[in-house]
Amino acid sequence: MRAMDPLSLARRLIQAGPICDHCLGTRFAGLGHGLTARERGRLLRAAVEGGRVEPSACWVCGGLFARVPDWAARAVELAKDYEHRTFLFGVHESPRLSATQEFLDREFPSPWAEPVRRGLNRELGRHYERLLGREVGVDFRRPELRFTVDLETGEVELHVASVYFFGRYRKLVRGIPQTHWPCRHCHGRGCKECGFTGKQYPISVEELILPAFLEACGGEGGHLHGAGREDVDARMLGRGRPFVLEVKAPKRRSVDLAEIAHRINQEAEGKVEVLSLAPATAELVEKVKDLKARKRYRARVAFARPVSEAELSGALPGLVGEIAQRTPARVAHRRADLVRKRRVYEITGRLLPPGEAELEILCEGGLYVKELISGDEGRTQPSLAGLLGVPARVTELDVLEVLDGLTTENTEGTENPQRPQGH
Ligand SMILES: [Zn+2]
Ligand SMILES: [Zn+2]
Repeated sequence: MRAMDPLSLARRLIQAGPICDHCLGTRFAGLGHGLTARERGRLLRAAVEGGRVEPSACWVCGGLFARVPDWAARAVELAKDYEHRTFLFGVHESPRLSATQEFLDREFPSPWAEPVRRGLNRELGRHYERLLGREVGVDFRRPELRFTVDLETGEVELHVASVYFFGRYRKLVRGIPQTHWPCRHCHGRGCKECGFTGKQYPISVEELILPAFLEACGGEGGHLHGAGREDVDARMLGRGRPFVLEVKAPKRRSVDLAEIAHRINQEAEGKVEVLSLAPATAELVEKVKDLKARKRYRARVAFARPVSEAELSGALPGLVGEIAQRTPARVAHRRADLVRKRRVYEITGRLLPPGEAELEILCEGGLYVKELISGDEGRTQPSLAGLLGVPARVTELDVLEVLDGLTTENTEGTENPQRPQGH
């Protein structure tokens, strides 16, 4: 852009019609650091017109800046029940403002300009903090509260971001799914088969953990995002399975996690236990869901005929290494049919007469252990049944450990609220 003189641009803007100090200032946002748009506008007006005062009308915003205190007060009212350390204002531009902005950028180009909308957002934030009487951080990326002002209707909307917690769960009994499963017969509508509950299983890990969080946070619902899931009939032991608990629209974010853990562990006693609860961020949800952790399993296996110690110890080394698994028949209805390769790192076992054995398996995340044993009619290669030449199946399965390497240090949130520039 060719060299430009701010004063002559300011003069042209002022001569084009009544313009408020805010809007005038937005054309020079890149000049005079530490000043607000309004202060910049006022200085330029003084330089151009001497003692003239700001007109009451404005051909650019049509008086939007005058409504800022009122909108900020509505936002304070909307937010009064919600604990928050960060917020952000945004506006839905009206067609009028969009058209005026376009006209402004075309007819009064300026290398220092920022959109009027951005000036409005900043003013809303300043007023909001002033009304609140304390400094709250503006967070441009993940604000806890997000206000949207519709410039057309004048409505102010509040969106409350979820709050997240990291934890681990142990599942001490079989027959509990991680999250609630709709009934197979009625798909959740409720029928005779499910006793009109709509559920395949009466309770889930999520349903045992979530309520204490919802109550503590005053949230409107939530989710347990697990780092994978064990089979419904498998226990989850050891240090437990990592999860991120999400509470939607929470009123409280600083909660006593020790108290929540205590309550869950008391109410779900003998079924589910939580440990290692810590504050977390939204980013951890994907990280935990994508976690490819090694697992250590214990499997009880039944053979179609008794096998000898020598047969078993001869077969087990053949399972160490890469296993090719076509999607198991039992999950084929909900997973794509493909062949995946997963590794078995270690496997040991001992016979439990008659015709049974107990195995311990250390393997890559995602390996289907039941099929490693049964062979799933040739869909898993190699398999214990295949190597022995004897049909075999898992009768009991426990996850002994999820070896994920997650610690409180690398799961805790590190986000810092930022102050906006020129604030
Ligand atoms: Zn204006
Ligand atoms: Zn049903």
